[in-house]
Amino acid sequence: MGETIDARGDAAGAAGAALREDIARCVHCGFCLQACPTYLQLGTETDSPRGRIALIDAMTRGRAEAAPALLRHLDLCLQCRACETACPSGVRFGRIMETARANVLEGGERPLSWRLRATALRQLLPYRRRIAALMALLRAYERSPLPALLRRPTVRARMPRALRAAEQALPVVAPHLFEPPPQPPNLARAVAMLRGCVMPHLYPRTHAATVRVLNRLGYRVVFPAAEVCCGALSLHAGDRRTARELARRNIDAFLGAGVEAIVVNSAGCGSTMKEYGELLDDNPAYRGAAARFASMTRDVLEFVAAHPLPPLGEVRGAVTYQDSCHLVHAQKVTQAPRMLLRAIPELELRELAAPDRCCGSAGLYSLVQRGMSARLLAEKMDDVMTTGAGVIATANPGCMMQLEAGARQRGLDVRVVHVIELIDQAMRAGEEMT
Ligand code: SF4
Ligand code: SF4
Repeated sequence: MGETIDARGDAAGAAGAALREDIARCVHCGFCLQACPTYLQLGTETDSPRGRIALIDAMTRGRAEAAPALLRHLDLCLQCRACETACPSGVRFGRIMETARANVLEGGERPLSWRLRATALRQLLPYRRRIAALMALLRAYERSPLPALLRRPTVRARMPRALRAAEQALPVVAPHLFEPPPQPPNLARAVAMLRGCVMPHLYPRTHAATVRVLNRLGYRVVFPAAEVCCGALSLHAGDRRTARELARRNIDAFLGAGVEAIVVNSAGCGSTMKEYGELLDDNPAYRGAAARFASMTRDVLEFVAAHPLPPLGEVRGAVTYQDSCHLVHAQKVTQAPRMLLRAIPELELRELAAPDRCCGSAGLYSLVQRGMSARLLAEKMDDVMTTGAGVIATANPGCMMQLEAGARQRGLDVRVVHVIELIDQAMRAGEEMT
């Protein structure tokens, strides 16, 4: 993997002190409880942010073991960070959970399932060819007679529930892979864009729309060839070592591109990339570069919203907006997507009752915690149906996949898009008017 510096996940001492400091900020007030999706579902203190902090504190002090019964409560956490938004004391819950998971994974009581998950991610995500092979398998499945057979009502009725849910949750691979388009030669300014792991395979249309919008704002878009996975999934799974290595490789790849900003249209990736500075803070060789990389990273919607827009044409219809957790709670970007949607003539934005409640996607969560993920998705789809909107706009590929699965399960005629696709559509309509 091109290991260069600091190959070990070395920060146990520093991370341990930071973890104790983070935990100490919690004053046990409980304001976060009503923001926590798993607490709202289960009503149990151990499945709330405050309860999880208490469990992690007990483990840190050696008063509790990383036993399966305890780890179950950590596993059920979506890492959605809604508790961070709700917390008046500024408790960095995301960092607490990531560090706690890393400590378990690096400790002596590592559960097999955690090790397998981290290894699978480590063996897959940094390698574009392996991801492509997995996507080819998915595509071959979709083209085979199997899906039609498995979706027959008589067959579905006899399928085990887990298999039925897994089949419905499979993402749809696009017919073509995203390839960076040639860039207009007359644009003096340049930004770099993250391709990501699954977006080029599942949502090439979103990438294409993003490039077109950035071009219209006057930017050439560069895709650094040496880009790797952002490391978010590894970090959330507790594999800090892999996340740190991927961060270093991306820093080398992007900072050499000579661009003004690094634009990301996947909220989960952008959130981790904005935190590279913290992730590598104890690495003297990379500290400065990581901080610079983080300060240059922008979610595409906040980037676009900060620019004067060309005239927008009409996009008719009712659209609802699902806040992606890592955009609203981790990056604190709430108004930019709404401002952009409201700027589109004839587009009616209908707000969800709980737009910032996690849809249950949460990276690998929908695969490894299917029961809770399904409950959260069912609630989300109820909320969507109440709005009567025909389009769900969001800002992260995981949310798009999950919401598409929800629409399929309900048989709803609802289209799921990234907000940038609607902006692209409105800009194109605006060009046609002139
Ligand atoms: S995490 Fe924040 S909101 Fe939750 S109990 Fe602790 S201090 Fe209160
Ligand atoms: S990150 Fe989300 S699921 Fe986890 S404790 Fe916080 S609010 Fe609950």
